[in-house]
Amino acid sequence: MRTAACLDRMAPYLFAQIDAKRDALRAQGADVISLGIGDPDTPTPPHIVEAMAAAIRKPENHRYPDYAGSLAYRTTCTDWMRSRFGVEVDPEREVLALIGSKEGIAHLHTAFVDPGDWVLAPSIGYPVYSGGATLQSANTFFMPMREEDGFLADFAQVPADVLAKAKIMFLGYPNNPTGACATEGYFDTAIAFCLEHDLLLAHDNAYCDICFDGYRAPSILERPRAKECCIEFFSLSKSYNMTGWRIAFCCGNEAAVQALGMVKNNLDSGQFAAVQDAAIAALSGDQQCVADLCALYRRRRDLVVEALRAIGLSCDAPRATIYVWAKVPAGETSESFATKLLVRAHVIVTPGSGYGPGGEGYVRISLTTPDDRLLEAVRRIKETMA
Ligand SMILES: *Cc1c(COP(=O)(O)O)cnc(C)c1O
Repeated sequence: MRTAACLDRMAPYLFAQIDAKRDALRAQGADVISLGIGDPDTPTPPHIVEAMAAAIRKPENHRYPDYAGSLAYRTTCTDWMRSRFGVEVDPEREVLALIGSKEGIAHLHTAFVDPGDWVLAPSIGYPVYSGGATLQSANTFFMPMREEDGFLADFAQVPADVLAKAKIMFLGYPNNPTGACATEGYFDTAIAFCLEHDLLLAHDNAYCDICFDGYRAPSILERPRAKECCIEFFSLSKSYNMTGWRIAFCCGNEAAVQALGMVKNNLDSGQFAAVQDAAIAALSGDQQCVADLCALYRRRRDLVVEALRAIGLSCDAPRATIYVWAKVPAGETSESFATKLLVRAHVIVTPGSGYGPGGEGYVRISLTTPDDRLLEAVRRIKETMA
């Protein structure tokens, strides 16, 4: 049999490779600590689990869900956007439930991109922005992201011929993996650029709730004219430790939301209604659990930043996200340094090069490991590098 040519062009999914390395070492009996994957280690808050338990007993939840998500869920998303950001979106036309934001981001390509088209993705970013384009037989232009520019993707560098065939520009701040946060001025310039060049601006806001030191991440939809060209993705995965539940939503420009809805109508039948009920409990319930999570990650961030600086690795303490992005020592590449830590310290960190061409020279350390294991990893890294 012959698979689609676009599959041959897919780079192996970064995290699958790391899992395989970890499993091989563990099979040899090594005590490997993974600081690789950004998957919260603490459980979903109990009131959300209880809401799911009640929702699962309701027979009406056992049937096919509404394609766009239940109106109750979409209305809750609307209320949350208003209370969290002061943003108004219409639950009937401008909000769509997603089976995780990865699903929505991947399918956005199907809605907007034809073979040979271009998408603009940050040169350091979530692999799905470019992977979705490849699966659509489209091309990705990687917008430069430089440390001296605060890792804000430089869309002014996109060549005119690419721009003529570009459909979507992806951005995501607070940023995975760099931890960078965008300024309002940057968002305004990006919106003006997308309006001028007739691009959809897709903003991935998965980390807007995980902020430290008094920082409060915005929605791009707070900015003037954003609704003319922006769609924003919010996920419950990181804010409420719900990665396994697969629930998110997107909102913003009506035409974009409806186009994505059209693709989804033909490809999936929505998320289990009970999961949507649990998500309602998360978004409309007590938000203390989110504050507790931020306190946990802030403490871990400080541990890691302190340890990295002690061994002479430069890194900023991020104001948001669950990652520390660190420069590798002189003479090392992302891969060689990550391999050194894996082989000598049995600690997994993610090579920055796996996030795109701009990530070379960095590694990402995830804060989703229990404190005692994180301390042990930090101790081993210090020892290895001493
Ligand atoms: C974790 C993450 C998401 C969330 O994905 P889900 O599919 O909702 O779990 C989205 N974008 C980025 C950049 C992430 O790191």
